[in-house]
Amino acid sequence: MAKAIVDCCSQPGLMHPDLALERILSHVEPILDTEWVELDQGMGRVLADSVSSKIDLPPFDNSAMDGYAYRFDDGLAEKPLTLVGTAFAGHPYQGETPPNSCVRIMTGGQVPAGYDTVQMQENAEANGDQISLLPAKRKGAHVRPLGEEARRGEQIYAAGQRIGAAEMGVLATIGVDKIKVVRRITVAFFSTGDELKPVGSELKPGDIYDSNRYAIKGLLSRSYVDYIDLGVIPDDMDAIRDAFKRASEQADVVITSGGVSVGDADYVKQILDELGQINFWRLAIKPGKPFAFGQIGSALFCGLPGNPVSSMVTYYKLVTPILEKLSCVTPKPILRLPATLACDIRKHPGRVEYQRGIYSYDEQGRLQVITTGAQGSGMLTSMSVSNCFIVLEQDLGNVSAGAQVTIEPYQQVLD
Ligand code: AMP
Ligand code: MG
Repeated sequence: MAKAIVDCCSQPGLMHPDLALERILSHVEPILDTEWVELDQGMGRVLADSVSSKIDLPPFDNSAMDGYAYRFDDGLAEKPLTLVGTAFAGHPYQGETPPNSCVRIMTGGQVPAGYDTVQMQENAEANGDQISLLPAKRKGAHVRPLGEEARRGEQIYAAGQRIGAAEMGVLATIGVDKIKVVRRITVAFFSTGDELKPVGSELKPGDIYDSNRYAIKGLLSRSYVDYIDLGVIPDDMDAIRDAFKRASEQADVVITSGGVSVGDADYVKQILDELGQINFWRLAIKPGKPFAFGQIGSALFCGLPGNPVSSMVTYYKLVTPILEKLSCVTPKPILRLPATLACDIRKHPGRVEYQRGIYSYDEQGRLQVITTGAQGSGMLTSMSVSNCFIVLEQDLGNVSAGAQVTIEPYQQVLD
């Protein structure tokens, strides 16, 4: 699954998160295990193989309108046509189609053989079985021809496609009832810290509630992931070692929060040196400087910083692409939009900042953005009141209201 990790952190200074991601991803090998599932169970899964249409789509010429099907050339005479039958959806007309005849047709009804055009009923006048039609604009008007969307055997999806609502519908429409998908990956995670208490318990002096596990659970709630919650592990060598062992035996990926910042890092490092390999990355990213990536047995390891916003930002920037690559997902491009800053921003050059922003439209319909205010990496509420990151590049300093900035709306990634 993962190749040997090369030491890449000996270089001084901080590494741009994009470069770190590129290096990290070079150690991630996609999962090859697959399984067949019923289409019903396909939502959110990842196609392991390409999928081709089992049928022509649409499977027959059919009407896009309620009206009359007829021969375009017959209509050129501008004389009434004789009504010979009906073609409703699911009830094709089986009779003859003699010259100067027409058939009453409904949307989705099969266009009878011999006819080529539909005129909508608003442009028709019926007098008994004599139907006067305004001339259609062209031969083939209002007809959805056989195979116009796809031909039988044509590839509709490549491997790596994630199945969303539209894909569920498309797979059904091309007659696919079972799909071959990549096996779900298993992610085990735990929080580390003596100060962390699970919700529902009472806080003693110095304690805080463990929030990261819940935020991470939310982030891991993807249909291509199964997760195992191993709880809070105290800052104790044996307990952490044991948790790493249990996690790596059960999972493809082990995610932890806390314990990777400078003071704590030795702890995790010592254990990972025994059980696997680890690299500590000092990223030029704020929030979220420390990030650990490595391998324990056959599992990949991602060590997120403990600060709640840092853990979400590093998850967004690094863990999501790792899980996607592992799961063979063809990633969608990240939505980046220019927006006008509607407040001043303080920033020191040196790190890429992911400030929490709230975008909206001004009266002229232009995209504008403000920050959520204080940007402390422990202030998790800033993640929840915001709807985007304001991404400020490494070299940038303070930015004044009125400047153009780049935002990354959260889309589904953090929802
Ligand atoms: P650490 O990375 O362990 O040094 O923790 C950095 C900061 O994040 C400290 O203030 C911790 O108390 C806090 N923290 C660590 N883990 C969590 C967690 N799971 N939930 C909430 N806060 C945390
Ligand atoms: Mg800690």
